[in-house]
Amino acid sequence: MTSRATWVYDFSEGNKEQKDLLGGKGANLAEMTNLGLPVPPGFTITTDACRYYLEHGGTPEELDAQVTEHLTALEKAMGKSLGDPDDPLLVSVRSGAAASMPGMMETVLNVGLNDESVRGLAAQAGSERFAWDSYRRLIQMFGKTVLGIDGELFDDAFDEVKREQGTESDLDLDAEHLSDVVARFKTIVREQCDRDFPMDPREQMDLAINAVFDSWNSDRAVIYRRRERIPSDAGTAVNVCAMVFGNLGMDSGTGVAFTRDPGSGAQGVYGDYLQNAQGEDVVAGIRNTVPLVDLQGIDRGAYDQLMGIMSRLEGHYRDLCDIEFTVERNRLWMLQTRVGKRTAAAAFVIATQLVDEGLIDMDEAVRRVTGDQLAQLMFPRFVSGGDATQLTQGMNASPGAAVGRAVFSSEEAVRWADRGEDVVLVRRETNPDDLSGMIAAQGVLTSRGGKTSHAAVVARGMGKTCVCGAEELRVDTKGRKFTAPDGTVVDEGDVISIDGSTGRVWLGEVPVEPSSVVRYFEGEIDPAAEDTDDIVRSVHRILTHADEQRRLDVRTNADTPEDSARARRFGAQGIGLCRTEHMFLGSDRRKLVEKLILADGDEDRQSALDALEPLQRQDFLEIFEAMDGLPVTVRLLDPPLHEFLPDLTELSVRVALAEERGEPDEGNLRLLAAVRGMHESNPMLGLRGVRLGLVVPGLFAMQVRAIAEAACERKLAGGDPRPEIMIPLVGAVQELEAIREETQRVLAEVCESCGIDVQPLIGTMIEVPRAALTAGEIAGSAEFFSFGTNDLTQMTWGFSRDDVEAAFFHQYLDKGIFGISPFESLDRDGVGRLVQIAAEAGRSARPDLKLGICGEHGGDPDSVHFFHEVGLDYVSCSPFRVPVARLEAGRAAL
Ligand code: ADP
Ligand code: MG
Ligand code: MG
Repeated sequence: MTSRATWVYDFSEGNKEQKDLLGGKGANLAEMTNLGLPVPPGFTITTDACRYYLEHGGTPEELDAQVTEHLTALEKAMGKSLGDPDDPLLVSVRSGAAASMPGMMETVLNVGLNDESVRGLAAQAGSERFAWDSYRRLIQMFGKTVLGIDGELFDDAFDEVKREQGTESDLDLDAEHLSDVVARFKTIVREQCDRDFPMDPREQMDLAINAVFDSWNSDRAVIYRRRERIPSDAGTAVNVCAMVFGNLGMDSGTGVAFTRDPGSGAQGVYGDYLQNAQGEDVVAGIRNTVPLVDLQGIDRGAYDQLMGIMSRLEGHYRDLCDIEFTVERNRLWMLQTRVGKRTAAAAFVIATQLVDEGLIDMDEAVRRVTGDQLAQLMFPRFVSGGDATQLTQGMNASPGAAVGRAVFSSEEAVRWADRGEDVVLVRRETNPDDLSGMIAAQGVLTSRGGKTSHAAVVARGMGKTCVCGAEELRVDTKGRKFTAPDGTVVDEGDVISIDGSTGRVWLGEVPVEPSSVVRYFEGEIDPAAEDTDDIVRSVHRILTHADEQRRLDVRTNADTPEDSARARRFGAQGIGLCRTEHMFLGSDRRKLVEKLILADGDEDRQSALDALEPLQRQDFLEIFEAMDGLPVTVRLLDPPLHEFLPDLTELSVRVALAEERGEPDEGNLRLLAAVRGMHESNPMLGLRGVRLGLVVPGLFAMQVRAIAEAACERKLAGGDPRPEIMIPLVGAVQELEAIREETQRVLAEVCESCGIDVQPLIGTMIEVPRAALTAGEIAGSAEFFSFGTNDLTQMTWGFSRDDVEAAFFHQYLDKGIFGISPFESLDRDGVGRLVQIAAEAGRSARPDLKLGICGEHGGDPDSVHFFHEVGLDYVSCSPFRVPVARLEAGRAAL
């Protein structure tokens, strides 16, 4: 760092593009300042300074002087100086990272008040009550966030004073009571910290700045970042902003607003307002807020001005914005704006609305929604009613259908979820400490707070179902129960159902039905019909555009005719992976497979294969029919054969019991010997895939014959079957060559005897690292590659997929070794590198080589972008992920 580094920027110096440096809040405060909106003046300390602080354990040397310089300018602009005993300038010290982390970090208001300036403030404002209210808030916030004192100590002391005055509302306390509160708060500070609350205004400010830096690493911020995949080294900016006061009387207040409904995307006036209040009061559910429209009656001037600013902001940001504002004695001040979080449904609806309003084009609309959001819209919904009793209706804060056992604390939610239970977290209101419980729960139910309350905002951000403000419920968190208006008591562990789209709450489990978006994919809803909902219309428009833009084809992994047909309705352009193992599992087939495995000689084996062949043929016939005209990649048998035999221990017991009874079973004895003989300690690395094809004579030939005969039969029936034959687990071209020859021989025989020409592509999976590294040679014998990224990940990392995730992945995630499981999202640097090497080598050996991927990653948004970048031809994923992959492939191409 040079000695002339700039660590501090005035609000007038930045703009909305500088989020990385100034944080989201700072960048947008600057943007609003430069738009000429009424923002109280202030300055932003950069994220660079925070990173420096976190790295070095202290602030950069020049910071102090730069803060002084900007503070002096601020004092000059305001005509007051910080903490001046006669007419104090007060400031807020606010956190603000580049990625929005609502409520995750700390903010301190009213910095600059002390035993003297509190009197100056009272005199200037003409209100003793206001000054003491502001002072008690400072000590409370400062004590909690800067000095690390348990906030409940302050809450309890405050409640005690209210109780002494026989009231529940802070509004009933007068200046004298509030100065009593201040005295008690100061005692708490002294007792908890062995020091007095600092009287020096600048010391207050500096300590608060460092506390904001430190809050970057608070537990809840760490949890939030992990969940939202926000890098842990980005750091937060700090905003120092002149205070404006919503707690100056009933002509003042504070509020939050959205330019559209963040739940549905509908246009209108959405928000909450609270008179004579400051800061977080409005979202904390301290008193009941009024809907924003009521501000029209309370303060027409401020309301009109706010509406004007909101529409200007929406036009300027070309998106839904959320806003924090304060009215100080009828004067409106803007304290924050940002492009607002929204539900998945609203994201789609708003994107197409903005297109219709001419603010964005369709490309931009596609960019503004995500595959994860689309996946959320495909979750089932409640069928209203059922047997369950409706307990109440709250506010529909974040849509979805959640069923689970009621739990009343974050800790219980985590504990129950760890045991594998679905839970619904029930709270009076949530606060940032409830985050881990909200993550663990299926849904969140609160009895207080509106659509902008903490629970609602955080749940929407997470895509979690939430009903808030169910005021009829009496929630007793200590007693671990709640009571409904009809007297029903719901205890911890009782099953409840909550509907985040309607706000309804039921006792018991309500049945679910498919979402309208799924019904649209199924062809049951016409997107152009009059009565079709906005969500379906928007999804249809956006996916249609994504389909036009994408270069990647999307196929599906399906091995039944039903799945094939569904995937086709969902837009699949063929089957990328048809596994044949389930074809060996039906009750009529088990015996035949056993016979095959136990076969005494060639003849015995061949007769078992001959019996299996027609069954397989029938399976393929139906799948080719469902996918008529589209490619169907059939993978020859992959899993080790003993997966089709009874479990070793179980069988041993059975044999032993039979012997004990004196009736030994010859068949079972032979079976047991075979199972013993085939036992492998590392089956995933054992006799499977192509190895099986090479070792068990006739097995692959039987499968190829079934495929070829089914194709001929379809052709004879006038169909257009397009089979592709895929050899699994190849590591060396010699393996593939041997199977390929056999395959071609069988194909020729079948064609000859049917008098029909079918010429399936013959290709291989690339799922063993050696195959990726020798892909150039392998391509000589393969007409296509399909990357089996599950096995490829398993073998590249040396992770047993069936064991490691439960065993230790959470520790790897905690330690930051990876940010997300490599089985969930492709590890670009390692596994992705192998994919890239193989794709390049394969293509240069055979330019028309077809390249696809058929692992779990085919439906993962980030991985789809990677496969687009390395130039694959298609991705293949489970039927329900097909629309997600279509959308993400379109987004990748933009
Ligand atoms: P968060 O990131 O949690 O929203 P903020 O920094 O926005 O935290 O501040 C918390 C609360 O204090 C908000 O309600 C905000 O509007 C209010 N606030 C912050 N700065 C000021 C100020 N200078 N004057 C009045 N209210 C403020
Ligand atoms: Mg805020
Ligand atoms: Mg595999």
